[in-house]
Parts: sequence; C-alpha cells; structure tokens
Amino acid sequence: MSDESIAAPEVLPPPEKHVGTGGAVTGAVPWIDKSGAIGGVFKGIRSLFSGMKVTVGYLMRPSTVITQQYPENRETLKLPDRFRAQLAFNHDDNGYHKCTMCRICEEACPNVSIIITGREKPAVSKKEIDSFVWRLDSCTFCNTCVIVCPFGVLRFDGTFESSVYDRRLLAYTLNDYAGPVASVLEKIEDPEARKAAMEKRDPYGAHTIIEALAERQRAKKAATHAAYAAAKAARIAKKEAAKAAAEAPAAEPAAEAKDVG
Ligand code: SF4
Ligand code: SF4
Repeated sequence: MSDESIAAPEVLPPPEKHVGTGGAVTGAVPWIDKSGAIGGVFKGIRSLFSGMKVTVGYLMRPSTVITQQYPENRETLKLPDRFRAQLAFNHDDNGYHKCTMCRICEEACPNVSIIITGREKPAVSKKEIDSFVWRLDSCTFCNTCVIVCPFGVLRFDGTFESSVYDRRLLAYTLNDYAGPVASVLEKIEDPEARKAAMEKRDPYGAHTIIEALAERQRAKKAATHAAYAAAKAARIAKKEAAKAAAEAPAAEPAAEAKDVG
C-alpha cells in the first residue's frame, strides 16, 4: 500500500475566540446578529411576509381552514374520548355519588383548584360532603385528581364550551347533592328519610362558597393582626414601665441633694 492511499486528516480551522463571562475563552458565538440595523429591518420584513403567506394562503383556499365548520357542526362534532375539558362527578343511576370527603384529590391538586367543604351538621354519617368546588379558571387539566381518587368519583368529559362573561362562573359545584355516600344512602330504607339526608346543590353556587371561605379567611387574618398589635402594644407598655421604674431612684437622690444645698 502506497503512502498516497492514506487520506490526510482534515485540519479544521480554530474557532473564532471571544472572552465570555468571567474572562474565560469560550469559542465562537453564532447567535450574535452582525447584520446591523438595516439588515435587521429587512429580516423583519422578510419574516412578516413569510407569516402573511400562510394567512393569504388560507384566504385563497378557504376549504382548507380547519375551524370553519364550528359551531355549525356542534351536533356531529366528535371529540377524542380522552379530551379533558370539564371535571365532573360520577353519579350512579340513582343520582348518588361515592365521595367520602377524604380530600386526597384536594391535597394532590397542584393549583388549589379543588375546594372541599364538609357539612356542618351531617345527617347520617360522621363526615358528609357539603360542596365539591372545582375552579376551571386555575385548573391545568393535569388529570392528577382523577388518577388519585380511590373511589373513581372524578372524570373529565369533553364539555368544552365554557366561555362566560363573569369569571366567577368558572367555579363549579360538582356534587349534585350534599349528603352521605351511595353505600350509606342505599342502607336507608325509608325513601323520605333518604331524601331528607340529601340537599340539592347548584352547579353555579360555587362562587358563593368561595366568597364565604374568603370572608372567613379575611376575618381570621384580621383577628390575627389585632392579636399581634395588642401583644406588641403590651410589650411596649411593659418596656416603658420598666424604663420609668429604672429612672425613678436616680431622680429622687438628685432632688434630695438640691434641698440640702
Ligand atoms: S386536573 Fe390537575 S389542576 Fe385540575 S383540578 Fe385536577 S389536579 Fe387540580
Ligand atoms: S373525589 Fe375522591 S379523592 Fe376527592 S375527596 Fe372525594 S373520594 Fe376523596
């Protein structure tokens, strides 16, 4: 084999060097735009035209616009089964649910989008749900609450038309009724007693609950501030009394010396 058959290794040019943060030599900086102000303007115009090309393209061929059928096709619109739009409660054929108020979903929600309140006076069980509030406005549809619920109470459905003019209406009460779980209700034989244990809940009553909770929170905060201010005032008064007591004996001898003189 001759020496010529062995290809000489390609010698790459050394990278353009520059002094980076802290004075270290870090090599070439490809992201610095050296085209200048005029070049930047032309670049912007080119980018604008490339964006407008897409818009004009759809304008010329309206049949290719994907959303053109909505909302006329509402009746026939088929969304994927796993589409997450609205958190919902599973109620059985009798209209009962299985929520035990264990609060696992509330704890697991990363955005505090679930607020569960218990009944102050449970009708039958020890613990009964009053309201299960879900806030669509802060939910990220991560599905964690659905996964962690041990009783399969929650599900997401495809009810996606949730636009409202009042943001407060994006908080929903998911439970149809306040009261005990299905297994407890089924044991109550008297239908009237069963009915009495259940209290109807309005899906849009959630904002009233949120307001009440916020009011309770504000009152709690105000009470804490008042207690803090009272404790601070007591501390200052005590300090001043101690200071006055410390100064009193020193003042008396001075007064006596004046009398003698
Ligand atoms: S989907 Fe995620 S963010 Fe929304 S309520 Fe459930 S846990 Fe919270
Ligand atoms: S929905 Fe499920 S996880 Fe959440 S409180 Fe009810 S039972 Fe517990």
